[in-house]
Order: sequence, then C-alpha cells, then structure tokens
Amino acid sequence: MRGNRKRDTRPEMRLRSKLHRAGLRFRVQRQLAIGDISVRPDVVFGPTKVAVLLDGCFWHGCPEHGTRPTSNAWYWEPKLGLNRRRDQAVDEALKLVGWSVARIWEHEAPSAAVAKVAPALGKES
Ligand SMILES: [Zn+2]
Repeated sequence: MRGNRKRDTRPEMRLRSKLHRAGLRFRVQRQLAIGDISVRPDVVFGPTKVAVLLDGCFWHGCPEHGTRPTSNAWYWEPKLGLNRRRDQAVDEALKLVGWSVARIWEHEAPSAAVAKVAPALGKES
C-alpha cells in the first residue's frame, strides 16, 4: 500500500495552476502502463511524452528533507527504500519507451518546477 500518491494535494494544485498559467496544457494523473509497471504521473503531456511526478520529501527521500526516521527504523527503512527503488524503476521504464521524466520535489517552488518541465517540452520557461 502506498499512501503517497494522493490526488489533488496542495503542492500538486500549486504546480498545476503554475503550469497552466505558463500556457502549458496537460492531463492529470493519466495512467501509464509500461510492461508490468503502472504509474499515474501527476501531470502528463501526451503529445510530447513528458511525465511530471511530484514527489513528497518524506516518502521519496528528498536530499534536503528526507529525514530517516530513527524511531521504528525497522519499519521505515525498507518501506522508504522500496519507494526509492520503485521511483527509479518507473523512471527507467518511462525513458525506455521514449518518455521524458521530470521529478519535482514538493518543497520546490512552482516556478522552479515550470523551469524543469519547460525544456522537456521544448519551450522557454
Ligand atoms: Zn524536500
């Protein structure tokens, strides 16, 4: 069970409205299946094959805020490690079939997120 891809969280809404205001049009949480990997990126630009995934700092091990819980480490370590490995597998699978992947940390400013996404779309940010 993964409680970390909820829909319409605040960072997600902020990102979407910023992308929208930047004139970018996209689909939200479209399911992509590559082999046995299935993923629902937060934002999908179908025609240009760009997938944007917004990662929670805790769940995805952000280098700045991905604190390693010291209490109940026996529980968290494998769980968080599994998340990171899954993230990698997802990125590799997407790239293998020609997608560009932009991963955005939830702590990143929406403008920084747009700057990350725009080049993949072949646009100036
Ligand atoms: Zn962070």
